[in-house]
Amino acid sequence: MPLTAGHCGQIRSIVFDLDGTLYVSEGVGSEIEQAACSLISKGRGISHDEGCGLLRHARKQLSAMYGPAPSLSRTCIELGIELREFHDALQQQVHPERHLFPDPLLQALLVSLRERCRLYLYTNNNYFLSWKILTLLGVESFFDKLYPIEFCWRPKPDAEALQLVLADIGGPPESFLFVGDREHIDLLPPAELGIATLLVREIADMQQIHQVLDQAL
Ligand SMILES: [Mg+2]
Repeated sequence: MPLTAGHCGQIRSIVFDLDGTLYVSEGVGSEIEQAACSLISKGRGISHDEGCGLLRHARKQLSAMYGPAPSLSRTCIELGIELREFHDALQQQVHPERHLFPDPLLQALLVSLRERCRLYLYTNNNYFLSWKILTLLGVESFFDKLYPIEFCWRPKPDAEALQLVLADIGGPPESFLFVGDREHIDLLPPAELGIATLLVREIADMQQIHQVLDQAL
């Protein structure tokens, strides 16, 4: 099971990633990717396909230099795109309402988790799209607070941003559980602080959260 072990004490705060964690959608992912391609093509005066090619190339280069696949935010920054400009484009060009619907299983899981913990969202996505996605899934009311990119404009993985999120929520490392779909982006930084983490590769993996909470009692 992709779970870090060795924790004691009680988990009180669960910090979820959003995209790829609370939902999986090729449609939304593709629209996000296409928005990045079109920004690159406009900024450089090249075709859309060439923009996509440049994005792929930058991703490969970053991966060759630093290891695992970089976040899209990091790749866009590397290509000279300002983060705010990137998120303006996402807000205009990404339409999760075309792809996402209420998810009763996710709703039921979050209802049960809410009885045990406070739930938070920490995402490289922006507030507008995060709220829209949560609303489409029917889970927007379950979170105590959202930490979207606007929280400090430092995309994950970022140790300083993580410290700000932890301080804002409050509590010792053993009171947290981080849940995400990308180990080095969502989970490695909190794990380095001794925080419990759970890697979810598909929505069904989320069911393991209750086991993690039981183990941490
Ligand atoms: Mg994700």
